[in-house]
Amino acid sequence: MGGMTSRLQPPKRTVRAWLSDMDGVLVHEEEPIPGAADFIARLTGTGRPFLLLTNNSIYTPRDLQARLHRSGIDVPEDAIWTSALATAQFLDNQRPGGSAYVIGEAGLTTAMHEIGYVLSEREPEYVVLGETRTYSFEAITTAIRLIEKGARFIATNPDVSGPSIHGPIPATGSVAALITKATGVEPYFVGKPNPLMMRSALNRIDAHSETTVMVGDRMDTDVISGLEAGLRTILVLTGSTKADQIERFPYRPTHVVDSVADLVDLVDEWNDESQEVVDFAP
Ligand SMILES: [Mg+2]
Repeated sequence: MGGMTSRLQPPKRTVRAWLSDMDGVLVHEEEPIPGAADFIARLTGTGRPFLLLTNNSIYTPRDLQARLHRSGIDVPEDAIWTSALATAQFLDNQRPGGSAYVIGEAGLTTAMHEIGYVLSEREPEYVVLGETRTYSFEAITTAIRLIEKGARFIATNPDVSGPSIHGPIPATGSVAALITKATGVEPYFVGKPNPLMMRSALNRIDAHSETTVMVGDRMDTDVISGLEAGLRTILVLTGSTKADQIERFPYRPTHVVDSVADLVDLVDEWNDESQEVVDFAP
């Protein structure tokens, strides 16, 4: 533990539920970050409501559960919330039983099927773009033509690139930009930093913003969307944002810690009902 942790003040309100980003917080690719397994074990062991969030829309929760398991981190499938699930839920709320032309992998197509959407290229109500590793010029052309004919343009996440073992790879945001350039139509992005991703996660576990914290490694996605959804935020320094970059942002996380290992004991310490009274103290 370093100096950052020693300044951690107890929260003014009890913390009953936890949201956490995955990559850069719990794992680097498939490599576990020390403390991650203990943190998750503490959450599950004490029965605290929690959800692991990811902007990646390639995988189903079951795929991600298996990937985490290989990293020594065990979570139930329903504790994983992806931008694909959030996108499907958004569409289900907006136009239940609708139709969409989907570019994406199983993570997205499964989520769309589960909410009862018809996947079709015949006059769909939406074009929904997600992450894929095999972008097809033909599929992009179809998407462009459908949008020009009036289909509404939705994208699971705005990330322009993602990590791979060989280096960065183009992600949903880059392909969305290509379609935008061709059509003049901007997509509605559902994933982080859209606070919709946080709100849908809170609803999923029946949690309330004022008694939930969001843990993340990026100021410009995790912290800003947590903040805008009314959550307290914890930045860990094991991922994207470095300690010397924090003060350059026009907003701050509620807490900064070196790593997820510093959070293990806080799961119990911060869930103290007696702290509720501290709320009105100066
Ligand atoms: Mg991350």
